[in-house]
Amino acid sequence: MQFKISRRNFIKMAGAATTGIVLSQLPNNTMGQANATGTCPYNGRELPLLYDTDICVLGGGPSGIAAAISAGKNGMKTLIVEKGITLGGLQTMGNVIPCMTTWAPDSDTSFVKDLKERLGKYGIDYNDHNEKSEVGIWTNPEALSLIYDEMCLDNHVDVLYNTIFVDVIKQNTTITHIIVQTIDGLKAIAAQTFIDCSGDAILARTAGVPSEHGFEKTGNNQPMSFRFEMGGIDLDKVYQHVTVELGDDFCPTKPPHYEFAEARHRTKQYVLEKFMVDGIASGELTEEDAEYMQAFAIVGKPGTISMNCPELPLKFSASEPLSYSRGVMAGRQMIHRISQYFIKHMPGFEKAYLAKEASMLGARESWRIKGKYYLIEDDYHNQSRFKDAVARTAWFIDAHGEKVSEKLPKGAYYEIPYRSLITKEIANLIVAGRCISASFILQASMRIQLTCMSIGEAAGIAAAWGLKNKISANVIEWDKIPANIRSYVSA
Ligand SMILES: Cc1cc2nc3c(=O)[nH]c(=O)nc-3n(C[C@H](O)[C@H](O)[C@H](O)COP(=O)(O)OP(=O)(O)OC[C@H]3O[C@@H](n4cnc5c(N)ncnc54)[C@H](O)[C@@H]3O)c2cc1C
Repeated sequence: MQFKISRRNFIKMAGAATTGIVLSQLPNNTMGQANATGTCPYNGRELPLLYDTDICVLGGGPSGIAAAISAGKNGMKTLIVEKGITLGGLQTMGNVIPCMTTWAPDSDTSFVKDLKERLGKYGIDYNDHNEKSEVGIWTNPEALSLIYDEMCLDNHVDVLYNTIFVDVIKQNTTITHIIVQTIDGLKAIAAQTFIDCSGDAILARTAGVPSEHGFEKTGNNQPMSFRFEMGGIDLDKVYQHVTVELGDDFCPTKPPHYEFAEARHRTKQYVLEKFMVDGIASGELTEEDAEYMQAFAIVGKPGTISMNCPELPLKFSASEPLSYSRGVMAGRQMIHRISQYFIKHMPGFEKAYLAKEASMLGARESWRIKGKYYLIEDDYHNQSRFKDAVARTAWFIDAHGEKVSEKLPKGAYYEIPYRSLITKEIANLIVAGRCISASFILQASMRIQLTCMSIGEAAGIAAAWGLKNKISANVIEWDKIPANIRSYVSA
């Protein structure tokens, strides 16, 4: 990995390292002792209580990291439970680079501002300064992993890595514990408030919250993608061929902020469609391999790109375990064919190689809760406003294969209400990220990372405020929280 680090930033970072700012902040219990003592009855057994905390966040993706950091900043003892060994979710493990722009003016909440600042500190040139660009922040997965750990250390947020949610224990409408599978077997975690940022709403669903998955009309989830990285690429040569010689105007920016794409299920015909279709004709690619192809440069990793493909056929479902697993195998074969095809035929890829497969399949949509407010497509077109709004966004509806909407006019946006994060069934639960209460089509707009982060940030603030004021999470009125505490105040 090579981050571009300016001399000034290098000196700052070196100073931080020598004064031990980063490493000396490791939490006190780094030797692996349980944070709590005692046991918890579960299915006729007594499980060790591993952790007792104010706020437990399940899932450390864009929404989960933001939720945990804002809860920590607001003085709460906070724990993230994460099944991988990095935070960032799809951003890092799914190779989903970059963060798309919200297209909404002034949508950056303080977590997003902090993230940008930290990316800059690590020499990541996140901004392409082109207002036509669909990219909000250019990121780099290794930098994000490091930054998210650093944010947790700075804000006294603890993380349980390699730990998988298994079950909930409830008393009436309150979740008292979750059961998790750790490297040392099953353990219990107690918390006052739980925030489900799993992307799959697994905690909410297990606790009995109603949910749905897939498109209401077909039952199909959005297609999954199995993303991968390629290295050894001469990106300037690719730019010269695709943008200059072929005249592709898809990407308004130049390397190192560069992307190219084709999408056969869209009405727009992309210049690179012919390149992919030629591969079908020659027998090197299948129809499915050529359905959707997109590639993004990775800032800080010269000669490397993140491929936003292959897009798996719809028969591989993000909400059926066996189908999901078969999708992994099919996707791996697709990666092999696509990478070989690029190496043979795309100028600039002559010395390229498959550098990394994602360690998390890219599920755009799986399950969504049915909460107190259910966002629908009309909320996008009507630019809905809510007094309990926690975020604004205007990313277009991008339901691959089903619907791609027009963009909203410049400056327009819709808001996301706190009520779409809470449920009538469970008092001490907030849900954030791509699995909030929204229809399939609306979710295809709100699911972008920056919006998920802003929703997560609000969830953490609300959870902390509720505990301080003894108000259950599911009856908090966001607009009653003092404006100076809120991450977002509706105009
Ligand atoms: C292929 C693809 C391309 C995309 N392209 C873009 C793009 O270009 N730009 C953009 O902004 N957005 C893009 N998105 C959307 C965006 O990446 C996601 O919507 C966003 O990451 C969702 O964030 P989240 O926090 O809700 O969930 P996730 O990122 O899915 O994170 C969920 C976290 O929960 C953890 N978890 C889940 N279950 C458990 C469990 N049982 N126990 C413990 N931990 C668990 C996971 O390991 C993960 O870390 C794309 C998505 C996909 C799939």
